[in-house]
Amino acid sequence: MTQPETSCSASGAAPRFPVRRGACPSLVNPMPTGDGLLVRLRPAAAGLTPGQWGTLADLARTFGNGLLDVTARGNLQIRGLAHQDAAQQLSAELSRAGIEIRSGTAVETPPLAGLDCAEVADASGLADQIRDAIRQHTPALALAPKLAITVNGGGLFNLSDAISDLRLDAVRHGGQVLWRIALAGDARTARPVALVDEAQAVSHVIALLELLHAQGSASRGRDIAALVPALDEACFPAELTAGPVNPAGVIRNGSSAVLGLRLAFGRMHAGELESLMAGLSGLGATQVRLAPDHALLVLGLPDGAIPAAARLAAEQGFITRPDDPMNSVSACPGTGFCAAGRLDTQELAGLLASQAPDLLDGSCTVHLSGCTKGCAHPSPAPLTVTGTDAGLRIVLAGRAGDAADLNISLEEFRALLPALQQGIAQHRQAGQTAAQALSLSGAAIFGMAP
Ligand code: SF4
Repeated sequence: MTQPETSCSASGAAPRFPVRRGACPSLVNPMPTGDGLLVRLRPAAAGLTPGQWGTLADLARTFGNGLLDVTARGNLQIRGLAHQDAAQQLSAELSRAGIEIRSGTAVETPPLAGLDCAEVADASGLADQIRDAIRQHTPALALAPKLAITVNGGGLFNLSDAISDLRLDAVRHGGQVLWRIALAGDARTARPVALVDEAQAVSHVIALLELLHAQGSASRGRDIAALVPALDEACFPAELTAGPVNPAGVIRNGSSAVLGLRLAFGRMHAGELESLMAGLSGLGATQVRLAPDHALLVLGLPDGAIPAAARLAAEQGFITRPDDPMNSVSACPGTGFCAAGRLDTQELAGLLASQAPDLLDGSCTVHLSGCTKGCAHPSPAPLTVTGTDAGLRIVLAGRAGDAADLNISLEEFRALLPALQQGIAQHRQAGQTAAQALSLSGAAIFGMAP
């Protein structure tokens, strides 16, 4: 499930910069974090060339600390800017390089919109119409800065899992493609309020945004859900039941192939990115797109060049295989990267991979969080390990900030790992996944059962 975007502000340290609550980090409003200011960028182009990515890497090193994130929703972040002026200079350099950055309300589309062989509809045209209608609305709509509108055309990389304030999902209905408009949730949980064709969709969206505006500039989709009559749906559209494919690995898209690269811990270094993009360019890649779940999608590679491209990416630290155990780990930067961090998430992920490998079988997310804010995975995970000043908090089927099922020290957690591995392995021998093992016997495996 793609989470609402959160910002990893340095809640554990006195901020050096003014913080505006409820704001999103942007070039105009950078967000203070443990390693300086952070800016979140939404490039206007669906994809950037390897050369443009090289420019971004260079700018991240010049104006930031050389670290870049791709967030769970597929936004790019540049970290470690020293001061507000650096954000303005970065903005100017991006313009000079021809990399246009979108501002305003986020209107998200699947990363391969228009190219996805399995999509129900190309969402990009409708998304542009919605952006234009918001921009041209008189009076200007006062909307919550974190409001998320999703236009999900479906396909391999569909956005069915993206939690959104307002969403439009393409569905086949009576021999035509319609847009199902829903409020507050993912494709399965949001409250459906209309089923319309593309020509009617924009006016419906604007009517809902006007309702949000009338409720106040902090209002979110959940605040108006009860005010709009729900759609009387006879059955749940089949298009919305399947989530997206794992973005790591080679994914066939019709007659072409896409190479998906996931960023371990959601971040990459400028040097790694530069090396990767120089190599991809030489191998024939034409475009690299941001994708949800901390991923990049490489387009244009000839089939024969894909193994070399995957090798190159793996050498630079990217996850290139769907069966990589690190796909099971959702972790924030943690200690050393964020002032609030009380856990070395990278070290703990390595420990889990080496000493409890059966836990990372791809069936569930293990959330490692530097503090109770839980930036990397705001919704519940089967297992969450959170760092605090007092040690580690273990939460089963919950969030980083939920009440702990167990409070232990790092040393005690290390000592528990053989039992954790053994407990999961026993369930695997019985044909069960790690997710099932945690759900059925998590408390016993952690020695919490009476
Ligand atoms: S969850 Fe991680 S990144 Fe977010 S504030 Fe806490 S330590 Fe920082």
